[in-house]
Amino acid sequence: MNTQATNKKIRLIMHLRQLGITDTGVLSAMERVPRDEFVPDHLNDQAWEDMALPIGLGQTISQPFVVATMTQALEISDRDKVLEIGTGCGYQTAILAYLCRRVYTIERHKALLVEAEARLNRLKTRNFTAIAADGMKGWPVINGIQQAPFDKIIVTAAAREKPPAALMAQLPVGGIMVIPIGEPGGQMLKRYKKETEESMVVRDLMPVRFVPLLPEVTKEPNDMVAAG
Ligand code: SAH
Repeated sequence: MNTQATNKKIRLIMHLRQLGITDTGVLSAMERVPRDEFVPDHLNDQAWEDMALPIGLGQTISQPFVVATMTQALEISDRDKVLEIGTGCGYQTAILAYLCRRVYTIERHKALLVEAEARLNRLKTRNFTAIAADGMKGWPVINGIQQAPFDKIIVTAAAREKPPAALMAQLPVGGIMVIPIGEPGGQMLKRYKKETEESMVVRDLMPVRFVPLLPEVTKEPNDMVAAG
């Protein structure tokens, strides 16, 4: 990494601290994970700006402040099993993997998933498992193995009114879910903590702009070209 990029990175970390990201684990994850490896080459000089950027197929890599806010709200420990819905380019996956025991991540766009998996392997991230599926249904039983419940769940695409029931069912008592809720143009990032089997504590974190959660897996043949 050249000096200019290093300076931009230091500036971004200071900016995140000023905005209220105080969790030192989260700050060091944001510093260690090379965001420039997750954005298309032609956007490389913007990789360390606090901005969302397009990653192809109409999807985006989230703004660093939003990634940091979501991660901080999850209060991740190194013993946690984390479920992520919406792998995208794999950036949030890498941040989570840096902090927790293992990340289970689901993406509905097969081409994005294949690229994200290759990228994470290249960066030597080992503690993740990625599948192409509809994340609204939660993590499926695979070869008879049930991974649920997950200590923490993060959803990086927006639900219309409330968290999908199948996801909520995979959260244990004491577990935390962070998810954007609302119509396009009026979404709120929310944090749900399961207090008992029947009760939840809900907190609004910040207004956000995410792509909507969509059903079914897609594997359009031209995806790889579009993803660039
Ligand atoms: N966390 C990503 C950003 C994700 S953008 C990152 O760091 O880059 C939101 C992603 O959610 C998109 O890739 C979209 O394809 C995916 N998505 C939308 N609905 C989904 C669903 N039902 N299941 C799994 N992934 C979904």
